[in-house]
Amino acid sequence: MIPAAFDYEIAESLEHAVSLLGDREDAKLLAGGHSLLPLLRLRAVRPSLLVDVGRLEDLSYVRDAGDTIAIGALTRHHDVATAPLLQEHNPLVSTAAGLIGDPQVRHRGTIGGSLAHGDPASDLPAVLLALDGEVDVTGPGGVRTVAAADFFTGVFQTAAGPQEIVAEVRVPKLTGDHMWSFTKFHRRAQDWATVGVAAVARRASGGVADAAIALVNMGATPLRASAAEAAWNAGAADPGAAADEGTEPGSDTNASAGYRRHLARVLVRRAIAEATAR
Ligand code: FAD
Repeated sequence: MIPAAFDYEIAESLEHAVSLLGDREDAKLLAGGHSLLPLLRLRAVRPSLLVDVGRLEDLSYVRDAGDTIAIGALTRHHDVATAPLLQEHNPLVSTAAGLIGDPQVRHRGTIGGSLAHGDPASDLPAVLLALDGEVDVTGPGGVRTVAAADFFTGVFQTAAGPQEIVAEVRVPKLTGDHMWSFTKFHRRAQDWATVGVAAVARRASGGVADAAIALVNMGATPLRASAAEAAWNAGAADPGAAADEGTEPGSDTNASAGYRRHLARVLVRRAIAEATAR
């Protein structure tokens, strides 16, 4: 279908984009367009104004920020996947980005768009949640920082307001003591995850500490698998058995809710095995 008519403005700076968003109540940002354009073509959304931030090169970066790695919102998935800083200090993020869609999607889609879109089937939101990362959003009132645990609020809903722009994402640096895995199940190589798992933990004397497991597509938002985390920390024989506790997966043409629960248990077991083997 052809999208409904809209006006189009190119933002020249972050501040310019915030100001353009303020012009119309139903204005929408356009970054890589890989989630927004399909929705426009289905007429599922009908903004009267698109504000194109895709040319804001100064929001495309991966930087060392001390204890964290800072990633500009306009950084394309391919650049996240291949950034030497992430490969060295947080390969969980670069590996997950390298598994998104196909090369075309990874060369156009952005990390800011992926988080702001709030799709529970997206990979990077779960990665950010497992890492207790942070998101900086810029709006008319300035910049505020939102913890990943507070950012995802519902299906296609986030804590970013209509006139706010995701500007930067920060993830912690992992150390040599960390073990991690990103694993997902999909029916074809380039498909979205039917279920995905981001897992990270620290080797501690006699076992594991700070286990964090986040699930893709097991509810309205990315979810922490708290019971499985506690079991992993406690050295339980099978933390994966508790992976679907507290989740509310949906049923669709890819999988029933029951099959998703089964997948979550299997994938958490695989993720822990892969993480432990690193
Ligand atoms: P856009 O489509 O431009 O925008 C998406 C939404 O976010 C819009 O509402 C827009 O207004 C808003 N937005 C964009 N940037 C910002 C910002 N900085 N601040 C605030 N709001 C903003 N994703 C996965 O995680 N895993 C996959 O396996 C996967 N496979 C895909 C396969 C295909 C064929 C396609 C088309 C997409 C796939 N994606 C997948 C989605 C892809 O990662 C998208 O690029 C991403 O979800 C959205 O990023 P974008 O830059 O394209 O955002």
